[in-house]
Amino acid sequence: MKKPEYLIVGAGPVGLILSLLLAKQNKSSHLLELRKKNDAHSDRRALALSYGTKIILENLGIWGLLKKKVTEIESIHTSQKNSFGRTLLSAHEYNLPALGYVVSYGDLSKALENEINKYSLIKITYEFEVSTIKNDKNKSILYGLNKDLPIETLLLILADGGKNTADLIQGLKRKETSYNHTALVTKVISEIPPNKVAYERFTSMGPIALLPNGPKEFSLVWTGEDSVINGLAKTTKDMFLKKLHEHFGERVGEFVDCDKFITFPLKKITLEEFPKSHMVIIGNSAQTMHPVAGQGFNTGIRDAYELSKLINESELSYVGSEAFINQYYVSRQLETKKTLFFTDSLINIFSNDLVGLSAVRGISLSLLDNFQPIKNFLVTKMSFGK
Ligand SMILES: Cc1cc2nc3c(=O)[nH]c(=O)nc-3n(C[C@H](O)[C@H](O)[C@H](O)COP(=O)(O)OP(=O)(O)OC[C@H]3O[C@@H](n4cnc5c(N)ncnc54)[C@H](O)[C@@H]3O)c2cc1C
Repeated sequence: MKKPEYLIVGAGPVGLILSLLLAKQNKSSHLLELRKKNDAHSDRRALALSYGTKIILENLGIWGLLKKKVTEIESIHTSQKNSFGRTLLSAHEYNLPALGYVVSYGDLSKALENEINKYSLIKITYEFEVSTIKNDKNKSILYGLNKDLPIETLLLILADGGKNTADLIQGLKRKETSYNHTALVTKVISEIPPNKVAYERFTSMGPIALLPNGPKEFSLVWTGEDSVINGLAKTTKDMFLKKLHEHFGERVGEFVDCDKFITFPLKKITLEEFPKSHMVIIGNSAQTMHPVAGQGFNTGIRDAYELSKLINESELSYVGSEAFINQYYVSRQLETKKTLFFTDSLINIFSNDLVGLSAVRGISLSLLDNFQPIKNFLVTKMSFGK
């Protein structure tokens, strides 16, 4: 009997990882990807990876390929502009090798694709835009834009990143809310090099995250209201570096250079109802969150991991059934909800600028620095999920 082929829509990092996890179980998959081959390699957005993510990548043999491109985070410094509070989390205090790891989206995609090339069980078709997905009791059927072949499968996995998911599946109930925030991403060089320290600074112009990326550079993610960040993206380099210094303060000295600006409008997306059978939605397509806490990809990779585990443990006749789909979503619900709640809380607490509140937050950050149970909680969350 021919082995069933798992169809994966989207060869972003989550889709690629799922195909590798399935290949390790000797299962074949076919990825359909809108972009051109190698297009993702130039995506310079930095991803902060958790320890759990590192373990999954190690088991897949990816970590070794990435090693030269990864920077360890040894401590995380959190502070707020115009307030005296701050908290410092450090890996050695918790006997951890690192609080997280930074890698660019492009480098991760390249390493994953190189590994995939070793497997004949994985096929990727680039420049294939999936336009419609239908599912019935026995199968999912997928149609591509400008391609005349409907493709049928026992289990279709949607890992399309979520931007246009609503157009693909008629009647899918999901909640999409704009944060009215945009993220500006670039690399910056400062007078004082990163030295494996990550900074999160809450300012009236939105949170600024500086992630160490190599010995000399930081990857900057500055998120804030659309008009503010789009305004920043239009300024000259000199003006931008000056503004950054003004809001970030003295911790790393002056900012001396930066790269091109890339902006991402930010949305929150959650599923309100799950597909009934023969289809699973994972990664950003299932939950898109604000990048302030660096949890999006770390949650998506766990979706892929849990799904592959369930496939491995299941009889073939069970895979894709309504009970199977339900079992998968139940296994993911709690963690996803907690992560979305933590991420939204950070934004609500720190971007609410009512008079007097910033002083309270300042005191809280100082107290937090001395209050071990909450610090432990922060380590598991701010260190990008233990
Ligand atoms: C500024 C910023 C910073 C971030 N920082 C972090 C961080 O520090 N840590 C972290 O964990 N997460 C972070 N994230 C989140 C992270 O980028 C996402 O969670 C992650 O990229 C999700 O991966 P994915 O594979 O689900 O989706 P994507 O990366 O969006 O990939 C989806 C793929 O599907 C393809 N596709 C889309 N539609 C179709 C179609 N119709 N047919 C075929 N193919 C299609 C796309 O071309 C794409 O290649 C950040 C996000 C942003 C915007």
